[in-house]
Amino acid sequence: MTLYFVAILNLIFDMKNIVTDRQYPKLSKASSGYLEIEHFKNADLHTGYFCYNCTYFIKDNHCAIVQDTGPDVNGEESGIIAPYGVCTLWDPNEEEAR
Ligand code: SF4
Repeated sequence: MTLYFVAILNLIFDMKNIVTDRQYPKLSKASSGYLEIEHFKNADLHTGYFCYNCTYFIKDNHCAIVQDTGPDVNGEESGIIAPYGVCTLWDPNEEEAR
């Protein structure tokens, strides 16, 4: 499984630039460990662990490696990758994280 996702990451990354114009398989929200916590909706998303300051986040509501749709780990379906969401694959975006 890990080698599979390393291969995917190699496909979607080009020297740390996310390629957004290609079709490739993405993880489900549940398998990535994704969840959204409404309480953090108005938090400073530059600090802490949020999709907003993750390398894979695509503004405004998408992720390069996790699907927008489907249930998250809590069985909730928002239809988006929320800036205030997070998953187990979080990786700091140096330009957004403080
Ligand atoms: S934490 Fe990163 S990898 Fe995980 S869903 Fe959010 S943007 Fe995508």
